[in-house]
Amino acid sequence: MARDFSRRIRTWFARHARDLPWRHSRDPYQVLVSELMLQQTQVSRVLEYYPCFLARFPTLESVSRSRPAQVREAWRGLGYYARARNLHRLARTVSPPNGTGVLPNAPEALRALPGIGAYTAGAVASFAFERRAALVDTNVARVLRRVFAPRLDPKSSRGQRRLWEIAAAILPATGRATWSHNQALMELGALLCSARTMRCPECPVRPLCRTGLRRNP
Ligand code: SF4
Repeated sequence: MARDFSRRIRTWFARHARDLPWRHSRDPYQVLVSELMLQQTQVSRVLEYYPCFLARFPTLESVSRSRPAQVREAWRGLGYYARARNLHRLARTVSPPNGTGVLPNAPEALRALPGIGAYTAGAVASFAFERRAALVDTNVARVLRRVFAPRLDPKSSRGQRRLWEIAAAILPATGRATWSHNQALMELGALLCSARTMRCPECPVRPLCRTGLRRNP
């Protein structure tokens, strides 16, 4: 079932994915910036600010050489400025003379950096380095729960742990396929299986989905 699920969402993603600029990049810094921006800001707004921020700060090192206030200034309009502060702290940690200037590719090593939680670590590992790493954000949690475990309480720590276990258990065999698999999971949660609507009749995993089958037998 895991293989079938992954194949279905990747095929759907290849046909229906939105063309978003960060999906064309495997540059770890660019992927990191997009993930930090997308955490608490709508895609439409990130589309506006992402290119301007990268034009102002094209590399991690350029962030590390700047003052925190300059990074915050470029972040203006996106809100939640702790993200800009954390990006600056991370850049100082990773860039010379404190570090090698290279972002690590393993989720565990990424998690040790300022402001990087489990989701962002999985996102950077799989989207920039094509590592076979799981990720669970709000969208992914909703899809996994509806498909595999509709009775799970996603707010409990047990429920969260279980969702991460499911996310890891259904990963495809290769890192390359994991890139599309994780992107597809997030896209499905954004476009078809959102918090407000479930577009089950159009959904590629309806035949496998415990919620979808119950709603539309
Ligand atoms: S079938 Fe419906 S509930 Fe299940 S994942 Fe698709 S949209 Fe969500």
